Amino acid sequence: MSGVEGRAIVITGAGGGLGREYALLLAREGARVVVNDLGGARDGSGGGSAMADGVVAEIRAAGGEAVASYDSVATQVGAEAIVRTAVETFGAVHGIVSNAGILRDSSFARTTPEDWDAVIKVHLYGGFHVIRAAWPYFREQNFGRVVVATSTSGLYGNFGQANYAAAKLGLVGLVNTLAIEGERYGIRANAVAPLAATRMTADIAPPEVLDTLPAAQVAPVVGHLLTEELTDSGAVFVVGGGLVRRVALFQNSGVRFDEPPTMEIVAKRWAEITDLSHVARGVNPLG
Ligand code: NAD
Repeated sequence: MSGVEGRAIVITGAGGGLGREYALLLAREGARVVVNDLGGARDGSGGGSAMADGVVAEIRAAGGEAVASYDSVATQVGAEAIVRTAVETFGAVHGIVSNAGILRDSSFARTTPEDWDAVIKVHLYGGFHVIRAAWPYFREQNFGRVVVATSTSGLYGNFGQANYAAAKLGLVGLVNTLAIEGERYGIRANAVAPLAATRMTADIAPPEVLDTLPAAQVAPVVGHLLTEELTDSGAVFVVGGGLVRRVALFQNSGVRFDEPPTMEIVAKRWAEITDLSHVARGVNPLG
């Protein structure tokens, strides 16, 4: 029996790209899948049922179980309807893959409040709304799995993606806290920063690079993070092109001042303060 067999899993943005790959794999492994997709363009404009319906048809043709959902993750009402689809169709919700996403790239100098809002609403609010709708079910059944799609753009920054990077690292902060609050309820929450050839990356890398990044390389890791046996929580993985790496925050051993230092003293010790040659895993000093 596979670690996801019989589980009801919601995958947002599963009408294409990575989400479709996750849905196909999970259904093959015996999960019951809600294929959610608004069906719009890469910038979030438009919508329709064809994308989600197409993936559901593929899954059913292969003998799997799936149901379509066309609601937007970006609103509370939409997200609640997505989770309700799982509960009404499969009688439960055991896992959420918060994968829906859009792009509105521009340099920070040119980023409009509208483009900022649109990106934050789909990625960060989308993650919040959908996970929040599933959370009471997770607590009640003492089981839940959350995987959010983060990005190396958020972990490290990327020119032209201030809105996207902020949203993506926001999701890591969310997962860090869900891991702590969910622990006693058997809930595990983790993040995957994928690297894959999809419509989102179609024009940002040359074809010979994209050819090395099939979405199928990412799906098994996301699948593992949804399994019953998973014990990890609050972890971040960069996955693509056949490489699976864990990413974590580290801090150096620091410089201690017994009295508030002058700015001049801070400047004098700056090389020591910024030195990363001796690092330890980051822990919340107040936690
Ligand atoms: P994609 O554009 O193929 O998939 C995103 C899907 O989300 C689309 O099918 C889209 O219709 C859907 N969507 C958009 N807004 C929605 C909304 N409001 N409600 C429901 N669905 C909505 O791109 P992808 O590359 O497969 O991206 C999947 C996720 O992985 C995204 O969160 C993306 O930011 C992240 N990611 C991808 C890469 C990569 O290399 N492809 C890198 C880093 C992060």
